[in-house]
Amino acid sequence: MDAVKRWANERRIADLMKVLEDREFGVVMAQDKDDARKIVMDMIPEGSTIAVGGSVTLNETGILDEIRSDKYKFIDRYSAPDFEAMLDKYREGYTADVFVSSTNAITMGGQLVNIDCTGNRTSQIVFGPKKVIIVAGANKIVETVEEGIKRAKSIAPMNARRITHKTPCAADDNIKCTDCHCQARVCNVTSIVDGCHYFPKRITIVLVPEELGY
Ligand code: SF4
Repeated sequence: MDAVKRWANERRIADLMKVLEDREFGVVMAQDKDDARKIVMDMIPEGSTIAVGGSVTLNETGILDEIRSDKYKFIDRYSAPDFEAMLDKYREGYTADVFVSSTNAITMGGQLVNIDCTGNRTSQIVFGPKKVIIVAGANKIVETVEEGIKRAKSIAPMNARRITHKTPCAADDNIKCTDCHCQARVCNVTSIVDGCHYFPKRITIVLVPEELGY
């Protein structure tokens, strides 16, 4: 990455870290995606049960590959043979020791903003797994909740296409949101996490001063 861009991202993250610490989130800045992977895996004891949210970032950092190792009990949503089995994996995820995910946006005010299809990712960030680890590149940082929602909506068509949901916004010739009402809609649930005060440090955010995921 360009050195000036990296410097700008690091400075922004340094400011954000103070805000997140005030809100009782755990927060770490990684040097790059490889460092992020190491930080995340060092936080997860061997033998832990792990669930994950759908995330390009977890693929790009290699974290998903590490989670698949024999050292952990991965509640593998991707191995489910059919839709009902996948939902069972989602349900099992609520009892995981650790939930690992990215976020659609993180505000400079210290809020996590996410939009989901089923709500498994949004809800498990909120409650369920004992520990939550969020990995986010600098591209996920926005100023306000409104911008966060706008960002999440702007990437929804790419996420719909990625998970092969046949929404109007993921068609070959369209990427615009039509506020669809189809069964495949990926924008059913919006969550805003304002702080971690009731369960201090339950959520740790690993911020990376480069671009990761959508
Ligand atoms: S509401 Fe429907 S059309 Fe709009 S971004 Fe979400 S899935 Fe796409």
